[in-house]
Amino acid sequence: MVRYAEVALNLSWESETLVYEIPDNLKNLKAGMRVLVELNGVRKEGVVTEIHSNEPNYKTKPILKQIDFEEVVTKEQLDLAYWMKDKYLSSLGESLFLMVPKGRKIQKKKYEDTHIAIDKLHKLNPEQSLALSSIQKSEQHTHLLFGITGSGKTEVYIHLMYEVLSQESGTVIYLVPEISLTFPTIQRIEAIFPGQVAVLHSYLKTQERFQNYLDLLNGKKRICIGTRSAVFAPVRDLKLVIIDEEHDSSYKEHSSPRYHARQIAVKRIMDNKGKLVLGSATPSVEIFHLAKQGKVGLQKLSKRANIHSKLPEIIVKENESQLISGDLQFKIADRLKKKEQIIILLNRRGYNPFIYNKNTKEFVQCPNCSTTLCYHKESIVRCHLCGYRTNLQKIKNEIGQEIDLLGVGTQKLEETLLESFPQARIERLDQDSTKNKEITKQALEKLESGEIDILTGTQMISKGLDFANVTLVGIINANHGLGIPDFRSTERTYALLSQVSGRAGRAEKRGEVVLQSSDPSHPVIQMAMEQNYESYFDWEINFRKELGYPPFQRLVRLVFRSKMDDKAAKQAVAYSDLIRSHSKYDPKTISLLGPAPCSFFKIDSNFRYHILLKSNDISLVRDLLSNIKDFFKKDNNCYVEYDFDPLDLV
Ligand SMILES: [Zn+2]
Repeated sequence: MVRYAEVALNLSWESETLVYEIPDNLKNLKAGMRVLVELNGVRKEGVVTEIHSNEPNYKTKPILKQIDFEEVVTKEQLDLAYWMKDKYLSSLGESLFLMVPKGRKIQKKKYEDTHIAIDKLHKLNPEQSLALSSIQKSEQHTHLLFGITGSGKTEVYIHLMYEVLSQESGTVIYLVPEISLTFPTIQRIEAIFPGQVAVLHSYLKTQERFQNYLDLLNGKKRICIGTRSAVFAPVRDLKLVIIDEEHDSSYKEHSSPRYHARQIAVKRIMDNKGKLVLGSATPSVEIFHLAKQGKVGLQKLSKRANIHSKLPEIIVKENESQLISGDLQFKIADRLKKKEQIIILLNRRGYNPFIYNKNTKEFVQCPNCSTTLCYHKESIVRCHLCGYRTNLQKIKNEIGQEIDLLGVGTQKLEETLLESFPQARIERLDQDSTKNKEITKQALEKLESGEIDILTGTQMISKGLDFANVTLVGIINANHGLGIPDFRSTERTYALLSQVSGRAGRAEKRGEVVLQSSDPSHPVIQMAMEQNYESYFDWEINFRKELGYPPFQRLVRLVFRSKMDDKAAKQAVAYSDLIRSHSKYDPKTISLLGPAPCSFFKIDSNFRYHILLKSNDISLVRDLLSNIKDFFKKDNNCYVEYDFDPLDLV
């Protein structure tokens, strides 16, 4: 009897599986293994989801090769992929290929007996102990650990992990926004749970990453630490998921399936009857709203863990003509003299973010995007949306010499600091400097050992850094970000200002923050200065309620993109017409906005239009769209993005 395999390929347009014939020599093939197959003359990797003997009504091709000789996808992951397909209207294969890293099985590593180094656990303070026991005793599966910066959330996480690891079985997933900024914490966890930690991140070598994946799959290691996609780790009996800095936007995937790690974690925790702990000093508005309503547990840490540490004092200054105000210059000089360290944030990359054409009185735009080009050091000119690169000479050749370079980015800030403080040791961390993760790690080690006086950079440096000798934080152009036309722009700005301020004075020495803004009286700047998240939340939640934004209404965004403007526009109109005429569409329960051109109308030569759907009940929208999705007449030149609970609308 001929046997067939259902194979999921990493394709956006094939929502489920294709059937292939299993050759006689592949007797041991099982669901959950990867195979090599041919599709339209191209060889592709696929995941076998099922084996059966039902001949399909089309001519099948044989499987070319078996890649794995043991299952690399668990039953839970397979179920999760089906669930995601329905939840995010994505394809099965896209979800499965998010879960399994590339790579092949190599030789077995030797494993040593491990023990928990209980003597390395720190004793918790009364607030931490209360949070820990409340989470442990609670019936609720999800908890927000709302703790001010420096309040010692990590220690609570470690005690929760200890509880799981001291049992016979049970596993932990610990998610962080950025691995390279988390090395000190990872080292601490490895020291407490030796041999139990597998880190999954994208800059490990392929084989090493795959080996870590197998160690989790085979239960050799019980703690997985990683960024967003580590939420899919193939661990069994998942008892605890920790999402640190849960408000961070990196937890949302930006290509299909556009999942949020928190939603996946909730699903896995419910299925496994475990606990999910979300930690933040500036929780997302949605989660804090749920916590206030009692729908997720709320544990507060209101004091800094170091009893001698106080929250820093924040001074707000109006932007002056100089980049670094006289006051901030004076304070930097003072800290340098005292051999204390300084962090200066400017949330803008490059040297001069704007190139101004004096003849046309316009900013020079990227040829592929509706955004301006940014001038970087050494005459390089780049687009931050699509990565387009050129140089200043070429631009001058095209449009003439009449050019002004305007605005300030981190490269210019670094240079200005070097000019003002030639003796200081200065390092810069931003997306340009950290392509190589080793550089980030080294920079942080240097900050720790006192080999850096001033660390400067973009929002990267706001995340989780904990260095006792940093006593001054300067924020340049603090209001940057408030002007972005997006309903989350104040939430993001508040979190950024509050998080970076929290880097100051985490130990005995009192910290100070100088916040420079062109609009010092802006309510968000004022509230960040007071460091009172709850007053910010009360202000923001009213605005969300009035405008019907999350958490009061859920959003679904559809983006239509095409190299041809008219195709994208036509498809967007056709889709909205379909929605309006569909029997499941009721304007009383679902509001439809658009179609309209996106704020970033063109990205990477793709023209973009969007439709926004709002509802109290997202399942109504999901039901409507999954009905339309299959009979909507697609144009092969236009791609449709489905984004449930989008983080931005630009
Ligand atoms: Zn571009």
